Amino acid sequence: MTDRKVVTVFYDERVLKHFPDVNTAFLPGRLDKRIRTILSGLAVQWKYPEHPGRLQAVMELLNREPIPDVAFAPGQAATREQLARVHTMSFLDDIFSLRDDSAWLDVDTTAVSPGSVEAAEVAAGTAIAAVEAVMAGQTESAFALVRPPGHHAEPARARGFCLFNNVAVAAAHAKAVLGCKRVLILDWDVHHGNGTQDIFWADPDVMFIDLHRAAPFYPGTGALDDIGAGRGEGTTVNVPLPGGAGDMAYFHAMQEIVVPATEYFNPDLILVSAGFDAHWFDLAMNVSYEGFAAMASVMQSLARRHCDGRLVCVLEGGYNTESLSHGVHSVLKVLAGGSVPDPKVCGMEEVDRAAEFHRGAFTDEDTG
Ligand SMILES: [Zn+2]
Repeated sequence: MTDRKVVTVFYDERVLKHFPDVNTAFLPGRLDKRIRTILSGLAVQWKYPEHPGRLQAVMELLNREPIPDVAFAPGQAATREQLARVHTMSFLDDIFSLRDDSAWLDVDTTAVSPGSVEAAEVAAGTAIAAVEAVMAGQTESAFALVRPPGHHAEPARARGFCLFNNVAVAAAHAKAVLGCKRVLILDWDVHHGNGTQDIFWADPDVMFIDLHRAAPFYPGTGALDDIGAGRGEGTTVNVPLPGGAGDMAYFHAMQEIVVPATEYFNPDLILVSAGFDAHWFDLAMNVSYEGFAAMASVMQSLARRHCDGRLVCVLEGGYNTESLSHGVHSVLKVLAGGSVPDPKVCGMEEVDRAAEFHRGAFTDEDTG
């Protein structure tokens, strides 16, 4: 075990090839017309928000502020067989037929460019590579830095900027090939992971826990009483939160729901659908870098208690490049053994300091 790495980042530049540009010609058709009409009605020039600059910003920060004990490894492309564990054959045929095209896939502005299909294969395959390395004991934990994201992708439908459901492909691979009996997925992206929920809805061996901003926020799914069905009843756990919820609410949910659910389920692998759009720069919630770090630390402790530390984060959303890159950095720092900051209510310390500074101004007494 002496050469087991602490935490490894899996990254493959082919994921940058996915780059839909709304100014180029897309495949003609009803969907194109409909989305062009929606976009032309906006007051601002619309750009595809899920762009290569997201990952370039993360890698740039990791180069500028390297974290000791973080290793790097390349990704790989997922095979059709690996993708077909969670997606239908007809869906895969349709996506593969778009390999050289620009096309809208969904009215929520999910699109592909030439290069997107390869990027999506590499995103799913890189999540698999991260899980394989963790299961083989080469690294305690791993972070798959991938795009397009995955958690909105359903068995037969791409949506929400997602083509293939990366975390689901990785979980299915862990079960089918790597001997995992029970896989736990925590999704802390601000949006509900509707695709992951669908895929494992009736699966008793994959527990899916999702903290998200409640409907009608996109995608509008993830109600409290959506708990799975059939043999999977009880292994879907939704925690809908109000807009603006911050570190304290998320940490409360971790302590009161995620920890006991994980203790009960006793997984042999933990995956995190790690989006960073709950940071306040993305304008939906109020999670801080310390909040993300604290959640990562809880998951690391759970993984160490139940499954020899085996924890894999798979990147999902996060559209402000500054909060995305610093969010990933804060999580990696904790996974690599850094100290864990206390979750707190933003601004309290600053108010205490200011109160101390101004105290003398509110009295005529000479306090000197
Ligand atoms: Zn999201």
